[in-house]
Amino acid sequence: MRTYDYWTKKAAGLSIRNQAFVNGRFVNSQSGKTFDNINPATAQNIGPVTECDKDDVDVAVKVARTVFEEGSWSHMHPAERGRRLMRLGELILQHQEELALLESLDMGKPVSDAMAIDIPGCARCIHWYGEAADKLMDEIAPTDPGALAMVTREALGVIGIVVPWNFPLLMACWKIGPALAAGNSIVLKPAEQSPLSILRLAELASEAGIPDGVFNVLPGFGETAGQALGLHMDVDMIAFTGSTQVGKFFMQYSGQSNLKRVSLECGGKSPHIITKNCPDLDKAAAAAASAIFFNQGEVCTAGSRLLVDRSIKDEFMEKLKAASASHKVGDPLDPDTSMGALVEEGHMNRVLGFIDKANAEGAKLELGGCRSAGRDGYFVDPTIFDGVTPDMTIAREEIFGPVLSVLTFEDEEDAVKIANDSIYGLAAAVWSQDISQAHRMARAIRAGTVWVNCWDPTGDMTIPFGGFKQSGFGRDKSLHALEKYTDLKTTWVQL
Ligand code: NAP
Ligand code: MG
Repeated sequence: MRTYDYWTKKAAGLSIRNQAFVNGRFVNSQSGKTFDNINPATAQNIGPVTECDKDDVDVAVKVARTVFEEGSWSHMHPAERGRRLMRLGELILQHQEELALLESLDMGKPVSDAMAIDIPGCARCIHWYGEAADKLMDEIAPTDPGALAMVTREALGVIGIVVPWNFPLLMACWKIGPALAAGNSIVLKPAEQSPLSILRLAELASEAGIPDGVFNVLPGFGETAGQALGLHMDVDMIAFTGSTQVGKFFMQYSGQSNLKRVSLECGGKSPHIITKNCPDLDKAAAAAASAIFFNQGEVCTAGSRLLVDRSIKDEFMEKLKAASASHKVGDPLDPDTSMGALVEEGHMNRVLGFIDKANAEGAKLELGGCRSAGRDGYFVDPTIFDGVTPDMTIAREEIFGPVLSVLTFEDEEDAVKIANDSIYGLAAAVWSQDISQAHRMARAIRAGTVWVNCWDPTGDMTIPFGGFKQSGFGRDKSLHALEKYTDLKTTWVQL
């Protein structure tokens, strides 16, 4: 039984990797600089982490390029690449407690969530792409019989991966899995708030037999190391997950440098629509609460706009508040905790700023609305605002915290109009047992994923994940993800 005591003892005994991982070794940055890494649940410093910048990016990219060209990974038999990825997946499972704990200490999520969702999801992802490594066939084009035209997929080369702090290891694995399965080398910059689990993963990748130089990790800041990767003339592609604002920077970096490919998984303001044909209001209320309070609301697909048919709104609000009671803020190492700390003080203040704005703009506070009492770390209580209108700030901007905006609609058309009234288009859900209505609405909503009668039920790897509009482009997960880490080559042979 993993009790609170168990986790705190284990945390005290953790050994922490805090240097960059380049060419199969842990190294200091060339400048020798470090930055503090704060545990947001305690506001204590976990310890210094090596701070990489442009010079370190130059070295890591060179290493990654050299190994790519020499071919120890890129030209390895795909089945063998697959076996080594499978081994990495096994190592993730063998070390799941350590990885879950690193995740929790670094960015504040409940360790029980990391154990149940993040780490198994990482292993599943790496296994899945390991299995896929030798399952894809190339094409022979149906040309004139006098020719043989082969269309083959080739690895791009050096992939720069830049990821956020909300699911540090999982967002990284969604990119590492397909990038490596296709034979690329990677240089990864974690978010400054959450470098620890990825550094440990790099070490496990070595243990799994991924050759030195293929998997490099550079902790550091976005404005320095991140930008240097984006502007590098010898990086073939950037796979980015993070805010829409920074996603736009990567498009600019590409244009200013070598026209590297860019794929962007950015922000969201996802609508969760409860029609009067909802098959089960209790179930929908429980889903609506989890959709915003899971991971402290720090989820790109958070169901942050709840759209409820006016005729059932009052009844639904009662059920929603009842369902929200099970989402309690607590110590992330306590197995009973369902909501941990927000990632850092600045982010907590940003979330509290949105709450102030909602009050000032006339939304009606129904639950929470404040920093959690009696804790040193950066915790915010689960918060619900009713009476939100589509023009209010909290209906428009991504808050990335446990703050739910409840809006009402008159009919199906009105619901779709409000749902689509956003710069984002990442995910959405419709609750309706009228099959025609559910399909009509799913078609009309501009989002990368539309769930019907559920909210994000599984971590299924078979489906593509990503956004429409300013939620980005390119897809993680599924076989489609392999497309962005490869390019098509035509070889035309005149017979
Ligand atoms: P962020 O501020 O955009 O940062 C993401 C990454 O970009 C971090 O590694 C960051 O480094 C780096 N970065 C920041 N400024 C940069 C710059 N000027 N040039 C190059 N790199 C730079 O996002 P975040 O606050 O970490 O994460 C929250 C956001 O991620 C939300 O908008 C959320 O919706 C989005 N997200 C999207 C998905 C999805 O799949 N669509 C999934 C998860 C999260 P530093 O940490 O050092 O600043
Ligand atoms: Mg941290």
